[in-house]
This record gives sequence, C-alpha cells and structure tokens, in this order.
Amino acid sequence: MTDLYPLGLRVRGRLVVVVGGGPVAARRVRGLLAAGARVRLVAPAVVDSLAGPVADGAVEHVARGYAPGDLDGAWLVHTATGDPAVDRAVATAAEEARTFCVVAADATAATAWVPATAGLAGDGEVQLSVHAARDPRRAVRLRDAVAASLDAGELPVRRVRTADDGGSRTGRVALVGGGPGDPGLITGRGRRLLASADVVVVDRLGPRSLLDTLADDVEVVDVGKTAGNHPVPQDRINELLVEHARAGRDVVRLKGGDPYLFGRGGEELAACRAAGVEVEVVPGVTSAVSVPAAVGIPVTHRGVAAGFSVLTAHEAVRDVPGGPDHTVVLLMGVTRLATTAAALVGAGRPADTPVAVVEDGFGPRQRATLGTLADIAARAAAAGVRPPAVTVVGDVVRLSPDWPPPHSDDDGAVSRP
Ligand code: SAH
Repeated sequence: MTDLYPLGLRVRGRLVVVVGGGPVAARRVRGLLAAGARVRLVAPAVVDSLAGPVADGAVEHVARGYAPGDLDGAWLVHTATGDPAVDRAVATAAEEARTFCVVAADATAATAWVPATAGLAGDGEVQLSVHAARDPRRAVRLRDAVAASLDAGELPVRRVRTADDGGSRTGRVALVGGGPGDPGLITGRGRRLLASADVVVVDRLGPRSLLDTLADDVEVVDVGKTAGNHPVPQDRINELLVEHARAGRDVVRLKGGDPYLFGRGGEELAACRAAGVEVEVVPGVTSAVSVPAAVGIPVTHRGVAAGFSVLTAHEAVRDVPGGPDHTVVLLMGVTRLATTAAALVGAGRPADTPVAVVEDGFGPRQRATLGTLADIAARAAAAGVRPPAVTVVGDVVRLSPDWPPPHSDDDGAVSRP
C-alpha cells in the first residue's frame, strides 16, 4: 500500500521556496537551478556553496528566519532548517496554501518526497528516480546499482523514436576506440555510446563480442578488412557515417584499439565535420601498448627503455631513433618481418636485439614468439605466425617471462632444450 503518486515536475521559470541554508538546502537549490526553477532561499545564513548563486543573483536570498508569507507564489516548497518546529510551521503553511512541501527531516510531515536520482551521462533525456518510502538509503543503494549498469552501457537506453519525431533530428557519430578485442577493455563512455547507438559500423579487429549485446534492430555494418576480401574503401566508410547520421541515426564507428593510431580516425572525423555532422572521438586502449603488455612486455621500463616508437612495418624503419634501449613497436605487416628486421639491422641495431611477435593479444590465439632481429623471421615462419600481431623490438623483450627463446636450428626450426 502506498499513497505516493510519482511525477516529474517541470519547474522551469516557476518559483520554488527553499527554507534553510545548510548542506541539504544547498543540494536542493543546485538541483532546482539545474532544472531552471526560480529559487527563493529563506535562511539567516547560508553554507559556502550557496554563496555563489546568491551573489550572482541566481537565487533570491531572504536573509532571515522563516516568516509567514514567505511561501507566497510558490509552486513547491522545500524545508530543511534543522529546527523541527520551523520545519513544521513551514509544512503547515504549505498545506494551507495547497502547495506540495518536502520536509527534509520529517517524511511524515511532508506532502512530497524527493527520490534518489540518476541520469545518463551526457544525455539529459533519461532520468531515473527511485522512491523507497522512508528509507532513503535503500533508494540510494538501488539508484547506485542501476546507475552503475547505466554507466556500464548494460541497459537498453537507446532512443526509440516515434513517428512524429522521425526525420526532424540529425544523428550523431562517435568514433569509438574499442581496444584490442577484449570486451572489458573498451572505455565506459564507449560502452555507453554503443548501448545507445542505432547503427554500429565495425572493423574486423576490436571487441566484436560486444555486438552480441546489441538489440536486434540495431543495424551492424561490417566494413572489416580481411585478407583476400575486398575491404570497404575508406571513402565509402566516411559516406556511410554521414548518410546514417543525416537520416537521424546515432552512429558508433567501433574501431580496434585507439581511433587515431593507424585507425584513420582523423579522416572519418574530418568527413563528418565537412558534412556538418556532430562527431565525437572516444579514445581507446591501443594494441601498440596493450598487446605487448598482455604477454608481460612493458614498452618502456626504467633502466631498460626510456622511449618507444610505433610504426607500421610498411614504413621505412631506418629513421627510428636509438638502439635496443629505444623500443620499436610494429603494427601490421607481420608477413614482411624478414625485410623489416633486416632494415632495422641495416640502420645500426645489433642483430641480437630481442624481438617478440605477439599474435591475437587478449584473444583465444594469443601467443608470443620470441627471437632476435637475426632469427625472428625464421622463427615466426616456423611457428606459422598470422595476423593480427604486434611486433616489439628492443631490450624490453627480455622482461618477458618467456625470455630467453628456445634454441633455434639454422633452418629456423625451434625446440625447447
Ligand atoms: N588503431 C589500432 C591499430 C589499427 S592497425 C590500435 O590502436 O590498436 C591494425 C593492427 O593493429 C594489426 O595489424 C595489428 O598489428 C594490431 N592489432 C590490433 N589488435 C590486435 C590484437 N588484439 N592482437 C595483436 N595485434 C593487434
């Protein structure tokens, strides 16, 4: 049994009277101002956090104790004076004026209760209110649990448009770094945006298992580039993002790793901007750092390597600074390992510089193949190394728990002693 009737009050431009100047009153005033209410604050003194709004005129401050007449014109009253007699007098006056009144210290004297609330970060459209009778802590705990799920992107927060607002709204694009593939390595923001997306444009790499969490009516466009298969050209990907957003859909471009590290995120950003489409970039955990880490190799380490360069194996690796104490991380091009290793030796790195090739970081095929610049190509070939893989060159590879690599024959066949 309850006598509670939940409502959302639209207070913009309407007078709300808050009696009391302590921390509870301050919290109420903040919420009311955020919702656009006109606030009259009746209190002889106010806490510091209220001084700003009072000074800049956002709040009308009546600097004395409560007096009859203070509630005139109010749509809603909050009283939190800390003095039960005053709170009761305010509640009685509000009752007589038929104005709803929240009484902070005495729920039974109140005609309105404040719920525990939460919203979807950066949204403003989704509001969560929890009432739990006279047990506010119970409400707060429940609110926190639901808010955590909201934050984690686990709840179906996606807008379900109705016929009368279709077409009037432009969608947004988010270029989301999905991390190296493990579903736990996407950011909270990325996960939330994914949960509210209408369209998800995905690559081959990245946390593809998260696609299983999408509602059936979310459109998934796979532009993944697989060897042999023709990839969707970048221009077409750019067009897709713009087209869907213009049709009013919220688009997540789910990318492997970080969008800006060999991810062509900059081009997608520019294409959206050029088309006047709102676009946001959500950073991701890059494979360049995380995949070596997955097998126990830090890309820098005090006394071992003070810096690192990330390049694609396509590029001229000759210009990379330093020796074995400057780590080189190579993305893509694992099939060109022999050429790349030779180029690094040609540029002056010792042939016995340690190398690790890490395949499928965080995935079921994760494996590290270790060697040196002299023999890594043969070892990788013997092991049947396949993409995706990250290659790490430098003394940091010695920090791998699997170092040193097993003995290798002249033909590259490896065997554990
Ligand atoms: N933007 C991405 C990199 C895109 S280039 C990032 O920041 O991670 C694609 C290359 O990333 C692959 O060829 C491979 O070298 C590397 N890569 C991405 N995910 C990987 C993974 N889980 N395991 C190994 N290599 C990976």
